[in-house]
Amino acid sequence: MKRILIVEDNADLASGLKRNLEHEGHKATVADSAKGALEAAARDTPDLVVLDLGLPDRDGYYVLEELRSRGVQSPVLILSARGLESDKVKGFRLGADDYVTKPFGVVELMARIAAHLRRAANDEGPASNGSLGDDVLQERYGLTERQVEVARLLAQGMSNAEIAESLGLSTYTARNHTEQVLFKLGASTRARVGAILRGQA
Ligand code: CA
Repeated sequence: MKRILIVEDNADLASGLKRNLEHEGHKATVADSAKGALEAAARDTPDLVVLDLGLPDRDGYYVLEELRSRGVQSPVLILSARGLESDKVKGFRLGADDYVTKPFGVVELMARIAAHLRRAANDEGPASNGSLGDDVLQERYGLTERQVEVARLLAQGMSNAEIAESLGLSTYTARNHTEQVLFKLGASTRARVGAILRGQA
């Protein structure tokens, strides 16, 4: 479980994001202003920040600059309607790790967040030896409990249809989980999943 800070003044968008992140097993906090964001980050350093640029008090760039100047190294993903190259460049110069323009696809956004969390976790810890436990798959790779089950079945060489039957899911749902597992593990093929789970990747 990771702590995600959502800085967003659009209440509907913020609560939708919060729901999605909680569904992925994370703890999500919402701040609807720059001031609130900096207070929340000071209280409890987030593992990742989703940052809107247009906020009621100061803009998101200010928040980003402040976070970095305070030594917060967590990945920051800017989520903004501002799509100009100059906006993005400014964000990256100030230390953003990613920039997604609104409107956005929620599945892609969740996958990007998982990728950043995974990379941050890999930077922290030493390379693991031996097979990966459920806790590692959940905490380091951001898999949900269901996705851990799917990953274990994938490692046995099961097809989406077999996974669906084994877990009592629709094939569609099983395929979605499979895609998420591959993405989160950074596995280029289904066959790679077994090696990753055995710690041989
Ligand atoms: Ca806004």
